[in-house]
Amino acid sequence: MTKAASHDQRSSRGAAIRLSDVHRTFEKDGMPVEALKGASLEIPGGQFCSILGPSGCGKSTLLMLAAGLMRPTGGSILIDGRELESCYADCGIVFQTDVLLPWLTVLENVLLPAKVKRLPKAQAFDRAMQLIGSVGLAGFERHFPDELSGGMRQRAAVCRALLHQPSVLFMDEPFGALDALTRERMQMDLSRLWASDLKTVLFITHDIEEAVFLSDQVAIMSPRPGRILERFEISFAQPRTPAVRQEREFQDIVSAIRRLFLKEGIL
Ligand code: ADP
Ligand code: MG
Repeated sequence: MTKAASHDQRSSRGAAIRLSDVHRTFEKDGMPVEALKGASLEIPGGQFCSILGPSGCGKSTLLMLAAGLMRPTGGSILIDGRELESCYADCGIVFQTDVLLPWLTVLENVLLPAKVKRLPKAQAFDRAMQLIGSVGLAGFERHFPDELSGGMRQRAAVCRALLHQPSVLFMDEPFGALDALTRERMQMDLSRLWASDLKTVLFITHDIEEAVFLSDQVAIMSPRPGRILERFEISFAQPRTPAVRQEREFQDIVSAIRRLFLKEGIL
């Protein structure tokens, strides 16, 4: 699949997300902590959007709000045009640590959403096996998490998040704990997986090249209190291949973001 995939094709398979002037204030030791202050962002259905920003700027907060796991203290969040009032059930979430259950095998971990959502067993099993194969884990279905490398565990976590074919995939620095080579490999695999299925992805990272490599849109956050400073549209064909990193345009976008980070005191 390439960027030629039509907008209709994409939007029919992933939900659109719209954040308008979103605020979120926490309380710490009796003092208010403003995590987000006026964050606005529009993610069309089926788009791969990265949120890029420094540590502590409110990225995870923004993800939790968009998934309905937390309520904003101001502003609105719409998913497919509807105000989000509680947890958005039609989503999968991948965190930085894989949070697999150590007493379950890879296959059993991947099948967890099927249990929770009471999906038909045979269908869920076929889907799980297909996903496990597509991320290169065939043969490891009966292994336990502690028998796998960090990268392999995170692949299993991605399969689990996608088992019920959610219309949005939320990923919070999913490759942050991996070594550089594993990370690049995972980025390529994710790009391929996403391009074959075209769900909406909200991907959090503090790595500029990772964001530019994967995304259709990169939204840059300011230091805390976070808001969206600037957005970049990235139009290379999907799925992305390693050659993209060598392209002049890729380097230009990375440099432009770096300049913005310098100007804002982020770097
Ligand atoms: P990021 O993911 O970009 O590193 P976070 O969204 O985790 O940032 O946090 C943004 C700010 O909000 C930080 O200053 C953090 O300490 C604060 N924060 C996040 N969650 C809570 C909470 N539950 N209670 C108090 N402060 C919080
Ligand atoms: Mg975070």
